[in-house]
Amino acid sequence: MTLYQDVQQWRARLAELLEQGEELAERIDRLEQQNVTLQQKLLQPDPGNGFEALTGLYDDGFHICPPYFGQEMEEDCLFCLNFLLHKGKKE
Ligand SMILES: [Zn+2]
Repeated sequence: MTLYQDVQQWRARLAELLEQGEELAERIDRLEQQNVTLQQKLLQPDPGNGFEALTGLYDDGFHICPPYFGQEMEEDCLFCLNFLLHKGKKE
């Protein structure tokens, strides 16, 4: 391998890493934003209305089930549905 090829490879690798770094930064931004949204929702002084706060969270596309609580929901989650069903019955 020539030095030139070596440098080219390192450049490509560096560009890749920089791209990954940007993606991570974006992801962190998004997570921080989500975190703020979640905190606002959960810390609203609304005692006795916890279940509604949770269903609101669910409607906004976040998990409310114990295993994934607070994470963004990509698709319907059986844990969440189960949770809603059982909580809903009790109320
Ligand atoms: Zn879930």
